[in-house]
Amino acid sequence: MKDKDSARIERAVEVAREAHEGQFRKTGEPYIIHPLAVKKILEEWGMDEDTIIAGILHDTIEDTPLTLEDIRKEFGESVAFLVDGVTKLSTARNGMRDIDTYLPETKDNFLRLMIALGDDIRVLIIKLADRLHNLRTLSALPPEKQKKIAKESLEVFAPLADRLNMGRLRVEMADLAFKYVDPKRFEELNNLIEKYNKSAERSLKQIEKEVGDALKKEKIKFEISGRVKSVYSLHKKLAKHNQNINEIYDLTALRIIVDDVTDCYLTLGIIHSLYRPMAGRIKDYIATPKQNGYQSIHTTVITKDKHVVEFQIRTKEMHEYAERGLAASFYYNEQKLTENYKKGKIEHLPTNLLWITELQMTAARLREGKKVDLKKLKLNLFADKIFVYTPKGDIIDLPKGALPLDFAYRLHSEIGDHVVGVKINGKMSNLNKKLEQGDIVEILTSKNQTPKTSWLEKIFTPHARHKLLHTLNDTSRNNTPDRPIPPVRKK
Ligand code: MN
Repeated sequence: MKDKDSARIERAVEVAREAHEGQFRKTGEPYIIHPLAVKKILEEWGMDEDTIIAGILHDTIEDTPLTLEDIRKEFGESVAFLVDGVTKLSTARNGMRDIDTYLPETKDNFLRLMIALGDDIRVLIIKLADRLHNLRTLSALPPEKQKKIAKESLEVFAPLADRLNMGRLRVEMADLAFKYVDPKRFEELNNLIEKYNKSAERSLKQIEKEVGDALKKEKIKFEISGRVKSVYSLHKKLAKHNQNINEIYDLTALRIIVDDVTDCYLTLGIIHSLYRPMAGRIKDYIATPKQNGYQSIHTTVITKDKHVVEFQIRTKEMHEYAERGLAASFYYNEQKLTENYKKGKIEHLPTNLLWITELQMTAARLREGKKVDLKKLKLNLFADKIFVYTPKGDIIDLPKGALPLDFAYRLHSEIGDHVVGVKINGKMSNLNKKLEQGDIVEILTSKNQTPKTSWLEKIFTPHARHKLLHTLNDTSRNNTPDRPIPPVRKK
């Protein structure tokens, strides 16, 4: 990071200060505090000058007399493009309902919208910086607003940070937000983590020393540190494991950062020679990176005094990328995506992030009025999911393999319970037909229809099964007490 701002940045601060003059935040502070905080965050992320300037000016078009033309004249095309993008994004968001009112499955639409509108990834990065500062200062808002913003952050912004492999941001956002969404649970889990870390402290020191000595003996240069598990990720993991804390193996984790890939594997060998590795817990994300580009080797071991410890082994570059994700690649290359994107050059993005470019190019084609084959659009972002449409154009996302009844129950259990037929892409179809990406699905209902137990065979999602069983149980209790309910079919 530079010690001194460039003349352009200084000028942008001056312009923003003037534009926001007389405006105040909910905290009572002058409004300029906010753009300046966004500036600082973007600097910490190592973003390029245009992005920082756009961050400083990001609220001026919406909230002040300043125009896009003013910005273009003074700061150039690229900054104007970014500020315009951020403004469009928040206008689009304002037009959307409160995220709570969306079906759980359509919430991704917002994420999708953000990506489609973020012509340049830097627009999303500015938006993330903006949201981070708003979260950090959330306490000044009234409780309902706090909850709303916190929820949206958990469900849209933190996953977005994760998609961009911005690990540090994801953790900070998720924990800041979770505290507002479920304060009691946050406290509870936070205490649990602290307690756990305390009890493991001494043994961790010992392990650090043992591993350190062994690595030194092999002349491997390394840094070792404890990594703190985020409260929100523990919350999510516990939900997945029936709240059984004994099934969470990465509560205590040590991170070892070495010089190169060879040293990563040597280190893994050394750790396994010291402690007993747990079967099935070795994950080589170096050979096979995660979809968001994350690389590291994970292994869980059991120490002599029966502590379960996860090790994460990676190089400095991998670590930098895991913490700062896409922002880190700007730091290294200072790439200007806009220009390259306009020239059609996409190779500057890591291969695993090409979905971003794909989605953006498709969005651009749609805007230019060109025809786009939605089925061909690879939504790697939502792997394992398909997007289907109601006749009105609402997007519903379902897991791959979903059937018309899953769609119907997703809309409403009233609709699900009264299905008599389905039209897919305008043609009559049947309830056994697997839905496909881009299908337009119209459910036909009749008031006289009642749910059938045979429908259990025509359902794929647990959500729909649950709803159907609920109605079946009700009906059988009220009308036909002797009718048997078939056992739930295992997938
Ligand atoms: Mn803002």
